[in-house]
This record gives sequence, structure tokens and C-alpha cells, in this order.
Amino acid sequence: MPELGGLIRELEGSGVPVRRCYGCRKCSGGCPISDLTERPPHWVVRSVQLGRTELVRGTGVLELCTNCGTCGVRCPNGIAVGEVINALRRRFGEPGRSGVLHRGFMRQVAGRGRVHGLFLAGRYVLETGTFAEHGGLGVRLWRHGKLRLRTGTPRGAARREVAALFGSGGGEGV
Ligand code: SF4
Ligand code: SF4
Repeated sequence: MPELGGLIRELEGSGVPVRRCYGCRKCSGGCPISDLTERPPHWVVRSVQLGRTELVRGTGVLELCTNCGTCGVRCPNGIAVGEVINALRRRFGEPGRSGVLHRGFMRQVAGRGRVHGLFLAGRYVLETGTFAEHGGLGVRLWRHGKLRLRTGTPRGAARREVAALFGSGGGEGV
């Protein structure tokens, strides 16, 4: 399967050892967009291992991954799933939208200390003009309780910690 071998070689050549994944799901457990997509990050890695990357399209993962890097930090095998997703974006020619989402995501973290998934998704489809493309996904996520009107926000020390991060340049690019 040349397509599979080529992608795995490309990823492993850039320091992403996808073949080492044994499906522990630690990456998905810490991923901030796991609840917003139809498939979680560990599933993306599995799709690469199996040569079924076409299944990733339409799940929301390529559009919504913010490249925060949490998956790579949590993975016991050093697999940065965000880099796997970037490679798939390049292959499928879907480069630009993640920037819109990333900015919206970081603005919310800086402003509220936490992301409001429904608001973020709404803003994203408005800014990218993709309501027709993603409206159905939004409805499905809503039905599954993955988008909510009410979300809590961190307070006290936790909120001050986030504010300090952004105050010291942690919000670069917001
Ligand atoms: S880089 Fe993407 S896949 Fe990894 S934890 Fe962040 S949002 Fe999730
Ligand atoms: S944390 Fe690493 S080893 Fe575990 S499922 Fe995710 S990519 Fe695979």
C-alpha cells in the first residue's frame, strides 16, 4: 500500500513514530477538541496505521485541531497527533481553516479561561462560510450533548494563572 507507506515514512522521518501507537487513548483524554469531533485523536493515528486516512475527512478533526500539542505531551510513545493531522491536512488540501479556529480558541482561553464549544463552532462557520458544510455535524454534536449552551469558567487562582500566562506572552498570536 504505497500511500500508507509514504505517509508513515514522512511522519516517522519528521519524528512522529506513528507505528508505536498501541491505542492507550491518553492523547484523546487530554485533547480539547475531542468532544467537538466525531472521532478522537487516537482514532486518527489508527486510521494512518491501517491506511484508511480517507475516513478522517468529514469527522471535524482536520478542521478543529488547534495544534495545541497536548496529545504529544501526553503520549507515552512521543506521538504528536497534531502533526499527524497537519500531514493529513496537507494531503487533503485543507490548510487554512485551522488558523481561524486556532485564533478563536486562543481568544476564548485568554478571555474566559476556557473554551465555549458552541460559541467557538458558531464563530468558526460564520468566519469560514462553512455553515452548509458543517451544519449537519453541528446538529449531530448537539444531539449527542457535545455542544452545550452553559459551560463553567475557571475562577480564582486558576483564572489568575491563565491570565498570567497570556500576560507573559503565552497568548502570542491571539
Ligand atoms: S494538537 Fe490537536 S489533536 Fe492534539 S490535543 Fe491539540 S487539538 Fe487535540
Ligand atoms: S497516547 Fe500515543 S500511544 Fe496512546 S493512543 Fe494516543 S497516539 Fe497512541
